Amino acid sequence: MLDPQKIAYLVVHCSDTADDEALTGCDIHQMHLGFGWDGVGYHRIIGRDGVIEHGRPDYWIGAHVKGFNDVSLGVCLIGRHRFTDAQMQALETVLRGWKSTYPAAKIVGHCDFDYTDKTCPNFDVAVWCRKWGL
Ligand SMILES: [Zn+2]
Repeated sequence: MLDPQKIAYLVVHCSDTADDEALTGCDIHQMHLGFGWDGVGYHRIIGRDGVIEHGRPDYWIGAHVKGFNDVSLGVCLIGRHRFTDAQMQALETVLRGWKSTYPAAKIVGHCDFDYTDKTCPNFDVAVWCRKWGL
């Protein structure tokens, strides 16, 4: 169980799949099952059309940020570099919702963790948050 009191990070990811591939939460679920995981590792998935899908429930420890899964929630934007306006609006909705439930949690990008060389989600989340007033 993920202790809501311990949620310190709200982590933004991208699926690192082609921007013209309209994958769904179900596709990510299949992909992560293929890794031998217990299905989708994120808590929310945002499709190219801006539809927000639920992955793991918030009380279930995710599989998206090594070493920090027990203190974070993860949201994944489908795509790699060019996210749609609808996706960014949906991201704001997800993060505002989480911030109201977990006000002490910090919004970060996957690449902001020192352990990884990944560039995910391929934009500066801190800059984006300032721009969106988050
Ligand atoms: Zn990531």
